[in-house]
Amino acid sequence: MSDCIFCKIINGELPSAKVYEDEHVFAFLDLSQVTKGHTLVIPKIHKKNVFELTPEIAGNVFKAVPKIANALNTAYEPIGMNLLQNNGEFAGQSVFHFHIHLIPRYGKGDGFG
Ligand code: 5GP
Ligand code: ZN
Repeated sequence: MSDCIFCKIINGELPSAKVYEDEHVFAFLDLSQVTKGHTLVIPKIHKKNVFELTPEIAGNVFKAVPKIANALNTAYEPIGMNLLQNNGEFAGQSVFHFHIHLIPRYGKGDGFG
């Protein structure tokens, strides 16, 4: 979608700190790092949110998530990780291209929760 910032990140029109990429999935550091290593995982196909996902797209995204989570564990050595996913404005979604937040946790006072 031409006016979607995440589509622009995927096709290189906007810069990002890439964490992972495969045929179907792209992952990059969130601009406003809630904690160190806060990463967004997105499908390369533009889908607004969970209500538009097909099982195939959902499968592709979730297949990549453990790989990305383990790469973040290796890189940042957190003690835990939250997966967060917002759908719709009321639910806190601000970018309308489906994404999963991977938020590494470091203990009390790490900035999240
Ligand atoms: P949401 O609130 O929709 O669940 O999450 C959207 C996330 O996208 C936010 O955490 C926000 O910081 C991040 N974000 C918004 N614009 C950009 C951008 O241009 N680049 C990156 N890397 N992250 C962005
Ligand atoms: Zn998009």
